[in-house]
Amino acid sequence: MQSINVLLIEDETRIREMIKDYLENEGFQVLEAENGSVGLEKFKASEISIIILDVMLPGIDGWTVCKEIRKNSNVPIIMLTARSEEYDKLFGFELGADDYLTKPFSPKELVARMKAVLKRGKEIGGIGNNPSIFEYRDLLVNLDSRKVTLSGETVAMTPKEFELLSFLVRHPEKVFTREQLLNKVWGYEFGGDYRTVDTHIKMLRESLKGYRNIIVTVWGVGYKLEVEVLK
Ligand code: CA
Repeated sequence: MQSINVLLIEDETRIREMIKDYLENEGFQVLEAENGSVGLEKFKASEISIIILDVMLPGIDGWTVCKEIRKNSNVPIIMLTARSEEYDKLFGFELGADDYLTKPFSPKELVARMKAVLKRGKEIGGIGNNPSIFEYRDLLVNLDSRKVTLSGETVAMTPKEFELLSFLVRHPEKVFTREQLLNKVWGYEFGGDYRTVDTHIKMLRESLKGYRNIIVTVWGVGYKLEVEVLK
């Protein structure tokens, strides 16, 4: 089995050692960093599969570290925080964190979240060597020919519906805010009307018929493409 390298960025020695011991027992390789700048250095110098990132760090905080990493990497990031406000959660997702754990948590819970995050992206995958075709059960999305089929039947949709779907399909299980979708799919740098997103999500769901539930509303945050609901 290929080893999974975990980068653990946490300033509290006691918590860091507790997590490290647990993860190593579970078969993970753990690299430790006691602050954000050491974390960023280790990330650049090594092949990292997943990052566990504490929010409250001396010097550069966890949000900034997350933002830095997201500039050129999609590596899964799980944030740790002592606070549980909805604001933090939203902020973390906006910066590109994949999941979120509030202290105190059990290491068992952390491993469960890590496994879930690592599994993402494998649920919907390219067929063979063609990364342009995505399939989930009877749903086929061809990014090159911009064609969507359901059980072999072509699904008619507007170009924006297609762009929205292809964006979500390329980032399964990841929550996006309306603002992010406006930015990524419509190309608006900021602002814009969030109702545009809601309207297109509604149209896309109608087009997807029996697969409409793969687009999930995350209350207070935005939308995500969820494949688990079909299982
Ligand atoms: Ca801390």
